[in-house]
Amino acid sequence: MSLRILAPPHEEIARVGARSRREVGPLGAGTRWDSEQIDGENRYFQEVRYSLYNADVLVHSRVVRCFHATMEQLQMLDTTLQLVPPQHIDLLNERKPAGIRVADTTGRGASRRYMGGVNPSADYAASPDFDERRGIVITHGAFWENRNRGICVTVLHEIGHVMTHNGELSYQPFPHDRSAQLRGLRVSRNPGVYEGLCNAYMFFLCYGSDNAVMRDYGTNPPDIQKDAVTRRALRQTQAFTMLDSGWQSRFAERERR
Ligand SMILES: [Zn+2]
Repeated sequence: MSLRILAPPHEEIARVGARSRREVGPLGAGTRWDSEQIDGENRYFQEVRYSLYNADVLVHSRVVRCFHATMEQLQMLDTTLQLVPPQHIDLLNERKPAGIRVADTTGRGASRRYMGGVNPSADYAASPDFDERRGIVITHGAFWENRNRGICVTVLHEIGHVMTHNGELSYQPFPHDRSAQLRGLRVSRNPGVYEGLCNAYMFFLCYGSDNAVMRDYGTNPPDIQKDAVTRRALRQTQAFTMLDSGWQSRFAERERR
């Protein structure tokens, strides 16, 4: 692991969300979830005392600043960011210089959630200790949900948005019917047209991994966000044509085994 811890950890009671109260929470099997009604729905969380660190994660000779993360989350961030091509890390650092912050919730008011992440643009206010417009926020719940995978795929999805905002990642090379299908997917709480594209990006980075478990996540079960048609179009987006040949070869089509 390539981490530089910047300061002693601080202890904090964090809220760790889940999509359903049937899931095993961080307090262990059989423990109950607290719930809060937001926007007419019950949202579940458990409160956990965490030691939270601020650290630099070193990836491809670059630094990504990470805030309020547990040691396990920092390890997941390190493994996750290794899947991101260096050119995309550069765009992330250029556009989101505040880095990645782990938080209890994302969003405001009725759109506040204990799961997922956000990559806000100008419509988000800065919170006192982190200017969200200059960074990405990922919930403790997203890390918990992904803990057995070793990577937090939500981070990859949000890095996708860093590139949809400026067009390096776009629907332009997609066959028309495919882009229409992806635009119409309702894959997250966010009704934006780029949700399907950012998921496709997330799966494609896993497809490019040399780890069989992550590659499997990037292809199975088959779906329009992770099939050969979508991969062919993604390779033609500027995000992937800008890569050097070594990185492009990671994303080449492979024989199924
Ligand atoms: Zn999204």
